[in-house]
Amino acid sequence: MNDITTLTLTETIEAIKQKKFSEEELNKAYLKKIAIINPKINSFLKIQKNSRGIPAAIKDAILTKGIKTTAGSKILSNFVPPYNATVIDKLLEQNISVIGKTNCDEFAMGGSGENSAFRPTKNPWDLNKVTGGSSSGSAAAIAADLSVFSLGSDTGGSIRQPASLCGVVGLKPTYGRVSRYGLIPMASSLDQIGPITKSVEDAALVLDWISGADSLDANCKDAKFSFTPSRWEPKLNGLKVGIPKEYFGEGLDPKVKAVIEEAIKKLEELEAEIVEISLPHSQYALAAYYIIVPSEVSSNMGRFDGIRFGLGRENLGQEVKRRIMLGTFALSSGYYDDYYAKAAKVRTLVKQDFEKAFDPLAGGVDVIVGPVSPTTAWNLGEKIDDPLKMYLSDIYTISANLAGIPGISLPCGFSPSTSSGQARLPVGLQILGKQWDEETILRVGFAYEQATKWHLQEPELVSRVESQESRQKGNKTGF
Ligand code: GLN
Repeated sequence: MNDITTLTLTETIEAIKQKKFSEEELNKAYLKKIAIINPKINSFLKIQKNSRGIPAAIKDAILTKGIKTTAGSKILSNFVPPYNATVIDKLLEQNISVIGKTNCDEFAMGGSGENSAFRPTKNPWDLNKVTGGSSSGSAAAIAADLSVFSLGSDTGGSIRQPASLCGVVGLKPTYGRVSRYGLIPMASSLDQIGPITKSVEDAALVLDWISGADSLDANCKDAKFSFTPSRWEPKLNGLKVGIPKEYFGEGLDPKVKAVIEEAIKKLEELEAEIVEISLPHSQYALAAYYIIVPSEVSSNMGRFDGIRFGLGRENLGQEVKRRIMLGTFALSSGYYDDYYAKAAKVRTLVKQDFEKAFDPLAGGVDVIVGPVSPTTAWNLGEKIDDPLKMYLSDIYTISANLAGIPGISLPCGFSPSTSSGQARLPVGLQILGKQWDEETILRVGFAYEQATKWHLQEPELVSRVESQESRQKGNKTGF
């Protein structure tokens, strides 16, 4: 391996410290790769030609001062923010630079990346497949080594699900861990910003950088996450892993199920104690989410009136319009109690399911493990005309948002390629933790990653470019 774009964030920082290459060489290498691969996968909507700092790719729903920010919507196609989101200011303090803004479903509403008003992002593992969404470009860019790491946002799975479908690591922090100031809101009681990375350690480091109090976001707690990898051991030493039976029922693709079961065996080999648990209200979570989200969307979208900034509302896409209408209906007088108030009650029950499962006084578990997505990446266009089918792909991710708990997706294998020549596609393992306990899910993820090394696998599209590059250089340079 002698392509510097394959390095993780922690490796890149170390290599720069040891002067193995300069920041300028690093940026050049990434920009060169973006020029070759981005036209094939559409992960970036805008590219910044920097020569300094460590490159990060930022979801286009996060405001970047002086850099066009569209949230994947035509309505904002000319919007240049006058200020940075808090997470951007925090990254700048760490010598990170924005290499580009990444494609996403319009206003983060979607699960495939196809609701972007500009073009769909394509999966680097198979260009006929979706990347998952809504942080589609942020996940694809990391899978294709077009940035060292990226930021996404997760309201119902938009970090974990594309990370799973693209074979990279995605972390949704505890609600309130990271400031959302400057994140174009979708559903404010659920939205969280988090990292998409090439390794679990990288996710922990970025969380350390972006977490902590912010006077500009009243929902952000003074609870900074501190990254101390030395605390992480290769074995799990009796840690209790709960497997919710509701996450393995009908609807889960048997090929995905087999990969997840293999991953659970691995955790057992690493000396975790595996116990079956129940989250009985899981079956109602999706319905509650798709009442709460459109309700909050209908209120948040009120600001886009086309008067102060942006174009008129006739420029909104189908899915956004659908949610504004559904939400307005669910909140209207006479219906509020039947829909919104009921959904809010279900939300409490979902949260209580987790509290019971994790309760230390009742012999509760330390983490909960299961699939991220019921299937691997599906064909572009396959679900776009069937919103209910599309919503079903969120079934395992939304509960964590409703409950406000942290969750990580990490690569755990592949569903095999088929005889029809279809490429093998990545599967993600989801680890959910107690509120404010990112530490334990990261520790479990780290032990698993070290024991399996799935995160080192690369899509053929990318390794082909890398080997061409190194042939051209005569294998001389590298580092
Ligand atoms: N797919 C989910 C939805 O469409 C999640 C979106 C998100 O997390 N931003 O609502």
